[in-house]
Amino acid sequence: MDETARHSIYVQDLKDPPHWPALSGARRTTVAVIGGGITGLSTALHLAEAGTGVVLLEAHQPGWGASGRNGGQLNPGLKYDPSQMIAKLGPEAGQRLVAFAWSSVQQTAHLINRLGIDCDLRLNGTLRAAARSADVAGVRASQQDMAGHGMPVEWLEPAGMARLTGHDHYHGGFLDRRGGDLEPLRYSHGLAKAATAAGAVIFGDSRAQSLTREGAHWRITTAGGSLIADRVLVCCNGYADGLVPGLKKSVVPVFSSALATAPLPAALSEKIMPGRHVLYESGLVTVYYRVDAMNRLILGGRGPMRPVSRPSALRPIARHAYRLWPELASMGWQAAWNGRVAVTTDHLPHLHQPAEGLLTMGGYNGRGVALATAMGRALAPCLAGEIEAADLPLPLSPLQPIRFHSFWPVGAHATIAWSRLKASLSR
Ligand SMILES: Cc1cc2nc3c(=O)[nH]c(=O)nc-3n(C[C@H](O)[C@H](O)[C@H](O)COP(=O)(O)OP(=O)(O)OC[C@H]3O[C@@H](n4cnc5c(N)ncnc54)[C@H](O)[C@@H]3O)c2cc1C
Repeated sequence: MDETARHSIYVQDLKDPPHWPALSGARRTTVAVIGGGITGLSTALHLAEAGTGVVLLEAHQPGWGASGRNGGQLNPGLKYDPSQMIAKLGPEAGQRLVAFAWSSVQQTAHLINRLGIDCDLRLNGTLRAAARSADVAGVRASQQDMAGHGMPVEWLEPAGMARLTGHDHYHGGFLDRRGGDLEPLRYSHGLAKAATAAGAVIFGDSRAQSLTREGAHWRITTAGGSLIADRVLVCCNGYADGLVPGLKKSVVPVFSSALATAPLPAALSEKIMPGRHVLYESGLVTVYYRVDAMNRLILGGRGPMRPVSRPSALRPIARHAYRLWPELASMGWQAAWNGRVAVTTDHLPHLHQPAEGLLTMGGYNGRGVALATAMGRALAPCLAGEIEAADLPLPLSPLQPIRFHSFWPVGAHATIAWSRLKASLSR
């Protein structure tokens, strides 16, 4: 089945796709980055800007993975509330991670503005919606927890949510004024171009096929060449292969799917998300949506666990949209696509150090646009050898395979569902 990104609305929009050539011959560098999504590109950019030699290898082209085909939402924070993070990690490490993760959108916006990346960045805020009456208490608790940490989050009763969404299906919610959106493929390409301009060397169509320790260095081979590096970052997220033993089995590569309309007619454009906030719903299977800078509704959620390219494959997501805005039923969809997000059993991103000079980063659980950007900035001084991995804002964790992973998707989904149930019971 075709796993390419070419069905996404963003690829359809591209007039002149940039191209990075493949690695050929033997090279040497200080840092090798494997995986050209936002994590890898942001890391390479920040390394190059600091004057550290860096070569990035991407199996396809930069932005090919989740980074270039996601919902484009910039949502601050993690899947847990700040107090839960502090309770989990202790006051010092917890506060550090909270300060880092909840400023990730600000960091992303600052970077985009500094580099002048043309990617339709807007900071109109994120809405978190209670989709069922049973979810109100949990969503309210999150809002109160964030507000208690001085964050700009405002509770909205059903009427307030109806005003901001153009339908009356929600039982309440909150607005986080720090959120926003962007066009993710142009953002990824913008990062890649800025990294190249700063001195990073990026190779497309260059899958790392082997990674081996050779004395004090690492040797990476691709079909056309080889690379020797002092330190290596592997950031393949939901597309991780067997390059680092155990990495692929440490996450569940869940497909997240999206549908996009053609530009909405004027009346619908004014009705649906009139303030151009982005929104994600409460619930085990999250639905998220926004109206992009071209006035197209982009709506996503959980679809089939296989690549999709046609709107007919995503009927449950379409039906959800028609329930919210029945007028959409007569419009049809311009594009349907999906991609792999990396889900972890604790629903936190994972930073591992499986060997000296080797880091892996991933597992954003479907919310990596801003976090991966910020992680890249944080990882760069560590890979440059200036700080220890233990000093990073995200604690190191052991690389552990998920139980039942071999039975993906059924067994792994059962494990994820069980861990979610446990999380909701312990709230
Ligand atoms: C449909 C969809 C909607 C989403 N919506 C949102 C959203 O609205 N907001 C949000 O914050 N997040 C969202 N996400 C999640 C977000 O896109 C990811 O968390 C983020 O892009 C992860 O970036 P990454 O760089 O870690 O991984 P990726 O972008 O997946 O990049 C990994 C790269 O590694 C490459 N690779 C794999 N193996 C090798 C190898 N051996 N050698 C070289 N390269 C290799 C792959 O080709 C791939 O390009 C969504 C994801 C999807 C799929």
